[in-house]
Amino acid sequence: MVASSVLGFPRIGAHREIKKVVEAYWAGKTNAEEVTKVAAEVKKTNWTELKQRGVTYIPSGDFSLYDHVLDHSAAFNAIPKRYQGQGLSALDTYFAMARGRQADGVDVPAGEMKKWFDSNYHFLVPELDDTVEFKLNFNKPLEEFKEAKALGITTRPVVLGPITYLAIAKATKEAKPDFDPITLLPKLLPVYKQLLNELKTAGAEWVQIDEPILVTDKGANYESQYGSAYPELVSAGPKLLLTTFYGRLESNVNFIAKLPIAGLHIDLDRAPEQLEKTIAAVSSTPIVLSLGVVSGRSVWKTDFATATKYGEKAVSALGQDRVIISTSSTLLHIPVTLASEDKLTAEQKDWFSFALEKASEVATIAAVVSGSQDAAIAAALEANRTSIAKRRDFEKNSDDSVRKRVASVTPDQYERKSPFTTRLEAQKVLGLPKFPTTTIGSFPQTKEIRQARAKLGKGEITSEEYEKFIEKEIESAVRFQERIGLDLLVHGEPERNDMVQYFGERLSGFVFTQNAWVQSYGSRYVRPPIIVSDVSRKEPMTVRWSKYAQSLTSKPMKGMLTGPVTILNWSFPRVDISREIQAQQLALALRDEVIDLEAAGIKAIQVDEPALREGLPLRRADWNSYLNWAGNSFKLSTAGVGDHTQTHSHFCYSDFDDIFPQIQRLDADVISIEASKSDLKLINTFKHYGYSNNIGPGVYDVHSPRVPGNVEIQERLKAMLAYLDQSLLYVNPDCGLKTRGWKETEASLINLVEAARWARQNH
Ligand code: GLN
Ligand code: ZN
Repeated sequence: MVASSVLGFPRIGAHREIKKVVEAYWAGKTNAEEVTKVAAEVKKTNWTELKQRGVTYIPSGDFSLYDHVLDHSAAFNAIPKRYQGQGLSALDTYFAMARGRQADGVDVPAGEMKKWFDSNYHFLVPELDDTVEFKLNFNKPLEEFKEAKALGITTRPVVLGPITYLAIAKATKEAKPDFDPITLLPKLLPVYKQLLNELKTAGAEWVQIDEPILVTDKGANYESQYGSAYPELVSAGPKLLLTTFYGRLESNVNFIAKLPIAGLHIDLDRAPEQLEKTIAAVSSTPIVLSLGVVSGRSVWKTDFATATKYGEKAVSALGQDRVIISTSSTLLHIPVTLASEDKLTAEQKDWFSFALEKASEVATIAAVVSGSQDAAIAAALEANRTSIAKRRDFEKNSDDSVRKRVASVTPDQYERKSPFTTRLEAQKVLGLPKFPTTTIGSFPQTKEIRQARAKLGKGEITSEEYEKFIEKEIESAVRFQERIGLDLLVHGEPERNDMVQYFGERLSGFVFTQNAWVQSYGSRYVRPPIIVSDVSRKEPMTVRWSKYAQSLTSKPMKGMLTGPVTILNWSFPRVDISREIQAQQLALALRDEVIDLEAAGIKAIQVDEPALREGLPLRRADWNSYLNWAGNSFKLSTAGVGDHTQTHSHFCYSDFDDIFPQIQRLDADVISIEASKSDLKLINTFKHYGYSNNIGPGVYDVHSPRVPGNVEIQERLKAMLAYLDQSLLYVNPDCGLKTRGWKETEASLINLVEAARWARQNH
């Protein structure tokens, strides 16, 4: 029989139980016992549901109250010194590491968060140095294994692999220069062995050990570490299924197949081309091959015909007992269940499958590949065939005019009419002083704004009333900016619930869910829109507000749009056409908006691309192709305007070293970047490469309520001026101000304006 498996499951609970209880705990409204109780209920429901759906290998130990990497650090005693000896309980120490703690005389900042591989999930970066004393504080996989067993469910515990754990860690500030966490492997292994051994004693037959670092370029550097560590780990007990996901193993498969592991998992959703090579690599070994055929990253129904084909290929080479049909990765990145959606049409519901539905899919595909004659399986197979065929029909009849338009884009549409220096002259019509001051777009999203939006949603106020309210908000934002003396104004984005959702709701081709929450970090969940068909603009989306804002003032008003790459990367994309085509469709819709804004008298237009960098593929060999189409779609969206119109873009990060030429190629007249927390190396990058357009490196951090002093901002500017051409420098914060309060926003911006005045007088 071919077995089925799920590599991990969303933690939130079908009704957001975990988010709610954890936030209540932070607010002091509930206690640790209640958190444990709710967590136990959610785990029980998850395990029971997976079992009912016929999944052979059900994960345990993957649950988390905040982040699984942080769980690992806490369990292995990799707890930075600043959190120790503070008199905190284990749970409070854990949350202090996650989000900092400022109470009762304790004042510690949170650990650093980073994106987990190429997903929108953030993990807490382990901080290590030679002084760390690994020991098993808590065997979480064991506890959860036992917890499930007590419910009569045998699970396959999940453990983050030692090499990936060390590879994603960073050195503490106290570490020796050039300290590399991987050198801690010999110290870490005994603790892993203890953990595995305890699992074996408790009756675990298999353990899933996650090593996603193997699908990155870095993976190949660890060949010798894999070679030495895994025989030791294997000697400790249960059979190990080494899992790799989010990408392809490439030549790493050669050394991995030589390890004494009992199973290997590969991602066939992201890299179906690696199937044959992997079969060949394991065929003369006893290794069981786990095939990730059901996507853990997309919300679309699996095409059983394709999945079955892969399964049968593996079975014919290895035999049924050496093949597992699995999700491609953990299901953490997709919502819990379609059953919670009652606003989607029946047709739309039939396209998708969320985590629980994917669990049924792996079980069904495994049965099909096993040659099951069961009538229910035959019916499921038939139903899948019908629904995939219907979806294909829908795709065929999608918006033909959009496709024709994409196909007829000409090279000149990607380029502005004149080079930057000519545009710079033409843009003098904006009347900006030297060191122009501006903000990134949003102003505080106050309680009143959220309430008005909620009331509109519930029909408690009319759209006329709502629009009047928004106009009032815009007017006060404009008056505020005039009063404190900013130069290039914004309308403040009060009408936007979210920078992607706002546009998704106004474009054709998107659908929205009610409960499809996906973890971004900790208790923060997002509900990405789903792109289901060709994307086009029905009517102008922002012109009304920008035009209104401009009518209130003689200062230039900046139009504000979310870029094509960011809309795409923060949505669930289609899988029937490439992301490149989807980005182009979005770009054309935005291009129309940009041109309409220009026609409405808006002289500066910002197209935000904060997600451009995070979309970078895991393998460098794939970077160029991504950066090409991503950059092109930005250019296509912005290049339709005249020389006198100033285009802006904004990026919320400060890593430009390796993508610099692409940033220059975007040819935005002004870019703003996050810079307040990085050293001047960042600015030096721009000098080093000779960045030629206007640039506004953020002069203060917007993620904290702290108000930067005027002199502090002056110092920042002074330091920047040592590197950047003063005639090209803009003065702005790091990012939008929507999460801030008005009090600190006002104080900070007054100081920013003051510092720019100082720069004008002294340069
Ligand atoms: N214009 C957006 C804002 O100010 C940009 C947000 C972002 O970069 N994430 O809110
Ligand atoms: Zn930003």
